[in-house]
Amino acid sequence: MKTLVILLILFSGIEGKASPEALAKKEIQEVLHSLRSSDSLRQFNQSSRNFETLSQSSFTQEFQCKILDDFKEEDLILLEEWTENLPCSLKISEKIENYWSAQPIPLILSRNTGKPTLEKVVNPDSGPIYSRGELQKKQIAITFDDGPHRRRTPKILDILSDFQVRATFFNVGENIRRYPDLSLQAANDGHSVGTHTDTHPRVIKLPFKDAQFEILNAHESALLATGSDTHFFRFPYGEKNKQIQNWVREQKFATFFWNMDSLDWKITKVDALYENVIKEIEKFKGGIILFHDIHEQTVRVLPRVLQYLEDNEFETVVFVPSLN
Ligand SMILES: [Zn+2]
Repeated sequence: MKTLVILLILFSGIEGKASPEALAKKEIQEVLHSLRSSDSLRQFNQSSRNFETLSQSSFTQEFQCKILDDFKEEDLILLEEWTENLPCSLKISEKIENYWSAQPIPLILSRNTGKPTLEKVVNPDSGPIYSRGELQKKQIAITFDDGPHRRRTPKILDILSDFQVRATFFNVGENIRRYPDLSLQAANDGHSVGTHTDTHPRVIKLPFKDAQFEILNAHESALLATGSDTHFFRFPYGEKNKQIQNWVREQKFATFFWNMDSLDWKITKVDALYENVIKEIEKFKGGIILFHDIHEQTVRVLPRVLQYLEDNEFETVVFVPSLN
């Protein structure tokens, strides 16, 4: 009887107070769950469990690193953006790269037999706002956000050049300053390089002045790196309010949203990602599709998507600014 009482006390003690390890693990798992169950990045960021939760955690970064040791690669891939600021970021990115090296790369049958990418001329002066890009059926504008990324963007550019497909990039200012050559290469390869703020914040949460700085500074960096001035802009998470959208129009930027989301920010399995992209394309039959040139799953799926577009006689579209 005595033993039972002691055991009960011990057990209730464990129940009532979870270990720091268990709590830290739970915190990360809840964020992963929130990401996987969100329909859009905007929804994820508006939820109570997002990367900010982890950055503002009461656990130290060193402790979070220790906890991450037990997480699978599929989870680490989704957390990569946040882990880049941790002291264990190198170790994690190595783990992720090893995971990808073990994955088979899809075989692509034919290349470069499709129609050349159509130029859709946009005059930013009138501050147009696009979500489908006013494209016709079977016309697809491929767009990439959040780069340039030192490992993924070069591969994306190679694939696009193999297929002779041109795309529209929305680069983040601080990444342009880190890898200006990659933004320049994108522009030199015939892609359009627009911007996506300086540090990828939720602009509607910022004081208006800071939001303005985010947008103008990124534009300045793109101009310096590429020498070309598209005045093309996309809000992080597609999140805006009237005040900032009106100001962007007044500054003579063309604003781009999207009607098709690849979901490459949450689907890491290449087959599943491909299925989703094709499902979106077949549902909408055309318009603007959102990718991110910072994920390896995007690199892996891209040749298959381009092959699909070619085989099914879709026409790719690049937005280009009018000259005046
Ligand atoms: Zn973004």
